[in-house]
Amino acid sequence: MGKKKFYIETHGCQMNFSDSEIASSVMIKNNFEITDNPRHADVILINTCSVRDNAEQRARNRLKNLTPLKKKKKDLIIGIIGCMAERIKEQLFEEEKKIDLIAGPDAYRNLPRLIETAAKKSKAINVKLSREETYDDITPFKIENKGISAFISIMRGCENFCSYCVVPFTRGKERSRNPETIIKEAKNLFSKGYREIILLGQNVNSYKWNSGFGFVNLLESVAGISPLLRVRFTTSHPKDLSDELLYVISKNENICMHIHLPMQSGSTRILNLMNRKYSREWYMNRIEAIKKIIPGCSVTTDIISGFCTETEEDHKSTLSLIEEAGFDYAYMFKYSERPDTPASTKYKDDVPEEVKLKRLQEVISLQRKLSHKSNINDLNKTFEVLIEGESKKNKNNFYGRNSQNKVIIFSKQKNYRIGDYINIKVTGCTSATLIGEVE
Ligand code: SF4
Repeated sequence: MGKKKFYIETHGCQMNFSDSEIASSVMIKNNFEITDNPRHADVILINTCSVRDNAEQRARNRLKNLTPLKKKKKDLIIGIIGCMAERIKEQLFEEEKKIDLIAGPDAYRNLPRLIETAAKKSKAINVKLSREETYDDITPFKIENKGISAFISIMRGCENFCSYCVVPFTRGKERSRNPETIIKEAKNLFSKGYREIILLGQNVNSYKWNSGFGFVNLLESVAGISPLLRVRFTTSHPKDLSDELLYVISKNENICMHIHLPMQSGSTRILNLMNRKYSREWYMNRIEAIKKIIPGCSVTTDIISGFCTETEEDHKSTLSLIEEAGFDYAYMFKYSERPDTPASTKYKDDVPEEVKLKRLQEVISLQRKLSHKSNINDLNKTFEVLIEGESKKNKNNFYGRNSQNKVIIFSKQKNYRIGDYINIKVTGCTSATLIGEVE
């Protein structure tokens, strides 16, 4: 008998992708073998997201699709892990009869034991949140091993309690990971040929190991591994983005010139209801600081349209702040109420669906124009590009990213390989991509 096989699929944010690598590592250490085909699996794990209702619906639809497999293979174990498991807990067994196992984000060490329990047809559930768990001794198993760019999770949980967000409830208290293990993981990846590390946390700016070692120290330590290693990070909270961090980015060439700074709304009244802990003026102050201290830095953002009580005037404030900030790219959504969040208990989700959609459309079309403008501004500029792979559309082209996190397509060069740096001059663009040639 060979090893038992598991299949894992991930929905949601990068944090979940990073968690799937930790869960996979635990499984492999316990004698399971990974497969990329659910038909060959003895255990199927679906790592779920709860941030928006449609993310949960997607996971439920996926479970429906797996029904025929479950019918064919009576011993197949199907597990729901991650945020949805944590949010709905035991009730999920009632709602989705095909599930054998439920594990929250802090229970991945427990997966082998839960699988044993599920195999005996007993209820296998662990949704206990921990104040300490950071999985810092577990080397994540790289599932999509492209070998150039890797995420490293530096902290877990969040205590900001933005009123619309489930994360503080599904991922628990904020905990920072031991920096020694982070630096060791980054060095190890670099020695295997990785050339880009993305430090990951819900609010990286509040990373703190002890009073003398915070995020700025961690960032400099990782950047210090090699000038050939690019370092990025996400996500920053505007309330915590310090000038000190901006100076560190400007001083270190291999810390990328890109900041993802979720704005959410341009109306201070709505920001207060969202419990974001900053005003429109504060947000703009941070944008100006970025532009002054790191000229050429790109800024991307997240925007929610149609939050509770949002008026046409609030919406206009959002549009005007988008324009003032001049974002290079944005992730834009309409507000989706999540059960048990402070917003769902305190405020009425009173913006009609068609109004939310109309406002979102206005936000999207404005941002599309700004993204295109940002790309047009790059015409004739030369950027150092890290080659990440072969273009899917044309095998004669490579694609890579510049420090600003923009994708650039260019024709393959004989003496260059994936993982190399190359200077590319931008000769054309669309609103989403830059096109260039070797300088
Ligand atoms: S900072 Fe706010 S939006 Fe981000 S994870 Fe924490 S509570 Fe959610």
